Amino acid sequence: MSHKCAICGQLTTTKIYEGCVVHCCQCGCNIVAKQSLGNIIQRKIVEFDQHECIALARRSPHDGVDESTTRVVLCMQCGQPTIPKQYAVDSAIVIDECSQCELVYLDPGELENMQMYVEGIDLLVLKPR
Ligand SMILES: [Zn+2]
Ligand SMILES: [Zn+2]
Repeated sequence: MSHKCAICGQLTTTKIYEGCVVHCCQCGCNIVAKQSLGNIIQRKIVEFDQHECIALARRSPHDGVDESTTRVVLCMQCGQPTIPKQYAVDSAIVIDECSQCELVYLDPGELENMQMYVEGIDLLVLKPR
């Protein structure tokens, strides 16, 4: 099943990322089923730079939230506007979600940012400072 990307309007393709099905397209965005998102974030197949992870985990919403909060993304399945949600209370990461279809729309790099954020939090717990 192929859909039009809610962000750029091109047809999406599917790929396997961290063992989960992800819809993606040429603009680099990722569309993930809500239940898969948690699995992707918990997996650590893809490795990231520890310093970058910690920097991201230290970034608070007060440092400025992603500008994606201002645009409206329409769900590719039901056509309803998605709702921007802050990913974690202390993160500066905002994701667009359709609660009806349980799909999450991620801008290019956002999925990686979420993984790095979670990893960074872990690292901070292990070695504070
Ligand atoms: Zn796209
Ligand atoms: Zn929807």
